[in-house]
Amino acid sequence: MTGANDAAIETGARAALTSTLQGRDRRHALPEWRHVLAVVAHPDDESFGLGAVLDAFIRDGATVDVLCFTQGEASTLGEAPDLATTRAHELAAAARVLGARSALLRAHPDGMLADVDPTVLDDDVVAVARAAGADGLLVFDETGITGHPDHVAATRSAIRAAEQLGMPVLGWTLDADVAERLRAETGAPFVGRAPDEIHVQIGVQRERQRAAIACHASQAVPTSVLWRRLELQGDAESLRRLDGTHRSRPTDHPR
Ligand SMILES: [Zn+2]
Repeated sequence: MTGANDAAIETGARAALTSTLQGRDRRHALPEWRHVLAVVAHPDDESFGLGAVLDAFIRDGATVDVLCFTQGEASTLGEAPDLATTRAHELAAAARVLGARSALLRAHPDGMLADVDPTVLDDDVVAVARAAGADGLLVFDETGITGHPDHVAATRSAIRAAEQLGMPVLGWTLDADVAERLRAETGAPFVGRAPDEIHVQIGVQRERQRAAIACHASQAVPTSVLWRRLELQGDAESLRRLDGTHRSRPTDHPR
């Protein structure tokens, strides 16, 4: 439990961190993609993780489609008798709230995505990206953000597919200071990125993301670290280009 003095100190620290984030240079806008394909591992990743960025793309006039590889049936939250079906409904509802054009849900095994034949995943991403007319892919950072191996596997597949397609990939990431705070406070293995590893930072509105999160009733429990993460992120989202294009343009983000 947190005492009154601790709470006051905590609030002050949070305000300082938030103002640091909000005062930071917002390097670059989102790319001008007309069609965005989000590739994720679990129902709720599109909202908990990518929700505010997808909302920003949609506000900019882009269409968004979501490809989700697993039904999230291995979650230890949500005691529904058929969690896979529950989470499929939650994903569909969240995608509607976000304003996505479609949400495609596959049934690869939750928790074991890294064991699925990579060409099966890659071919799926290629086919869906082509059908959607995608200009780029939006994924979790290569770290997986929370350390979940499914997140890493989904992103690796998207990067390989994008290579085949000659398509750019943006990875949603956390600032190193946010990840460090989350690790310290919760013990969860969040991985962040230093400022020089972040290529795009934008201001976002979180209302629609929060409404989409609420659709995932089986997962958005009051004790979730998610709420603290959103609080620490404030109105900023950070992204990395994962397709290698930034490596040939080293002057693009001077330190
Ligand atoms: Zn996930």
